[in-house]
Amino acid sequence: MAREQSSITLAPGTATAIPLDGGDEMKITSPQGGQGGDFTFMGFDQALTRNINGWEKFGTVKVTFYADPGMKLYDGDGTPFVEVVEVHSDLRVDIVYPGCWREIYADGRPGCRDLLSEALGVERKQLTGMASFWAECEVDEDGYMFSNLDIQPGDYLVLRAMRPVTLAVSACPDDTLPGIRPANLLVEVSSGEISR
Ligand SMILES: [Zn+2]
Repeated sequence: MAREQSSITLAPGTATAIPLDGGDEMKITSPQGGQGGDFTFMGFDQALTRNINGWEKFGTVKVTFYADPGMKLYDGDGTPFVEVVEVHSDLRVDIVYPGCWREIYADGRPGCRDLLSEALGVERKQLTGMASFWAECEVDEDGYMFSNLDIQPGDYLVLRAMRPVTLAVSACPDDTLPGIRPANLLVEVSSGEISR
């Protein structure tokens, strides 16, 4: 069966939204390293996703900080839409943070929430969840924050649509986080399994 594959390059501070059918895959790569971003889909429920994956991984009421390979991302009904197939990086996919937004930047540049809602054609407040790649975090009694984000050249992750879904991806405009070096992201999609 013919497999269609296409790719686009995302400069820092840009985003795209790509409709996928069930079984289609998306691969997101940082070719030069240093650059991360966020992805989302309409209805993505970060909190429920943390809790369902925590149940499945630990067998108890423990929430996960990360969406690791084999984990699924759910909407607010507990319907899985996206599976994390592979994370080729020392870092992980964070499902705690909500992505950045315009108001946190002194120059008012659009943040990932602004970019992704625009790509999806919805109001920013309609975004209900965000997954941030690539991340590693430290936790203390009061909270949780990014540690050094040492994204290596060629780090990638692969997502699989479990049913029709429009997946939106941003290249984060933040150039102040520890370890971040702004560079393009490569987003590839394939009907069926993607080459890697
Ligand atoms: Zn961002």
